[in-house]
Amino acid sequence: MSTPRALVPRVDYRRLATQQGRIEGRLDLDHLDRVAAQTIDASAGASPVMVDLEFREDAQRRVHVEGDISTTLRLECQRCLNAFDHPMNVAVSGVVVGDDDAAANVPREYEPVLADGDMLDVHALVADELLLALPSVARCSRPECTAQYVDHDMPRGDEQYDERRNNPFAVLSQLKRDD
Ligand SMILES: [Zn+2]
Repeated sequence: MSTPRALVPRVDYRRLATQQGRIEGRLDLDHLDRVAAQTIDASAGASPVMVDLEFREDAQRRVHVEGDISTTLRLECQRCLNAFDHPMNVAVSGVVVGDDDAAANVPREYEPVLADGDMLDVHALVADELLLALPSVARCSRPECTAQYVDHDMPRGDEQYDERRNNPFAVLSQLKRDD
């Protein structure tokens, strides 16, 4: 298998669309600082991001971008603090616009993708899509992780508080003991 080539950083999206354009390639995490910041392994050995995007112009001369972004990110589980691999496959579907005014005119059913005039920053698009698709709280799926959650997730103090709140007699017996 040959190594897929690196994804272009910027494209003239309208020109690409009128030429039935498609861009595909590999993007390493060191080009995606905002995504790398969310992972615990963004070294050269980390899985690259594979990108495949198609651009086409519709009858209203809107430029649509469609395709997919896939990778596996190494995240830290917020529950057990262990590292785990999080496979991602993000479907991209939007309309590219050159400025905020154009974005305001995009019909509601389409997601506007903001470009800088004629040029679309493809790397920024990939970063935005990945960040949007990341879970707000990273959690692994190890069976041990769930067990740990049930037994130890609550800090000790809260656990005692909950016991008292849920069982007024516990408070009473505590008071009696204090007497
Ligand atoms: Zn976990």
